[in-house]
Amino acid sequence: MADPKRLILACAQPGHQLNPLVKKRERVVGGQRLAEPNGEGFPIYAPCAGTVTDVAPALSSTGDFVLAIFLENDGSGETAPALPGWDDPTDPTPEAIRLRALEAGIPDVARGGIALARSLAPTTPIQTVVLNGCTTEPLVQAERVLLHHEWETVLFGFRAAIRAIGAPEAIVALSVADRPLVGTLSQSLTERDAITIEILPDRYPQGLERYLLAALRGVDLPVGEDPATVGFAVFDVTTMHALGRALRDGQPFTHRVVTVAGDGVARPGNYRVPLGMPLGALMEAAGRQGTIRQLVWGGPLSGTAVASEEIGVCANTRAVLAYQQPVSFEVPTTDCIRCGRCIDVCPERLSPIYLARYAEHKRWDEAEAEGALLCSSCGACSYVCPTGRPLVQSIQLARYEILRQREAERASQPKEVAVP
Ligand code: SF4
Ligand code: SF4
Repeated sequence: MADPKRLILACAQPGHQLNPLVKKRERVVGGQRLAEPNGEGFPIYAPCAGTVTDVAPALSSTGDFVLAIFLENDGSGETAPALPGWDDPTDPTPEAIRLRALEAGIPDVARGGIALARSLAPTTPIQTVVLNGCTTEPLVQAERVLLHHEWETVLFGFRAAIRAIGAPEAIVALSVADRPLVGTLSQSLTERDAITIEILPDRYPQGLERYLLAALRGVDLPVGEDPATVGFAVFDVTTMHALGRALRDGQPFTHRVVTVAGDGVARPGNYRVPLGMPLGALMEAAGRQGTIRQLVWGGPLSGTAVASEEIGVCANTRAVLAYQQPVSFEVPTTDCIRCGRCIDVCPERLSPIYLARYAEHKRWDEAEAEGALLCSSCGACSYVCPTGRPLVQSIQLARYEILRQREAERASQPKEVAVP
């Protein structure tokens, strides 16, 4: 997809805000650094050349306003020189791989967008590195497209991640639907690679780390724990693709593949789009049709409706679904019949019905105690509920409120002042 006229690049990362390096009316070229982190984050880069029209708050997918850089594409296609690359992912040292991941502004998408460089420097011994090719939910094909069409780049990044972490074993986990890929992928592997390809059932949410590790090695990952606690490092396909490009081609992370679907677009598909592309521009480019009454940020089960088309695509935007009728109101909601299905399907072993009840009554402390922050927003509970209760939506609201209150408390704490 061609780069749009305007981009909205959020300067927010988990836990902190970036420092913009550009000012209003400043001209930039593609690949130029636009903002850098205060602490543990990573920089962001211009996906294309153009002029900064503003540095101001912009709406994010959570409904919050975050500082953003507004960039007007001048169509010149001018880019900054690429960094030097390596022909072989085992040539750079582990430290050089981590440094390039940081310099190239690559997030670990599966870890909520923390810097990939952090995930490549685990603090506990890692036995197995896993490339998670099972992350897709129905309709969402962004990662599969990379596996099918850009496998060499993904493998480059994955080999580098294995080297950086120093694990003796590695697994590429695929859904059974991708079994035809095995021959092609295997051809790229050599005896030097300690990589095996394993096929898992094609069911949702197989890609969740708890399910993934249980299926691969029978490991019971404790709820809320990182795979590193049981000796695993798990990476998603988009992250490994970005690492491959950064190391081989010297390119920063500026674009990602997004699935665009729904009856609001005439040309649904998987598009490589620049970070910061406004959802409205994405709709136009995919052939907006009819009146779009609901835009969903994410997949049909885990996604959430957003209130504006003036939100820029981010590193974690795997899909955008556009509907002419709001799908969430098609199922009539009735009272809970206590069937327990939502509890049976929850991969995080939560009790969605109780979490949702606490959220409905704004009992945020009890929702937190019941594990609201452990919910992975997979949407399985809402999907199976025979009475159509909006369980995941209520739990997401609780998560949002709990985190907002924590942030407010942190902001109200007196700050230490250095005494001369
Ligand atoms: S969305 Fe529902 S099923 Fe999925 S983790 Fe959260 S509570 Fe459990
Ligand atoms: S699945 Fe729906 S009806 Fe059944 S217990 Fe959960 S909330 Fe209640």
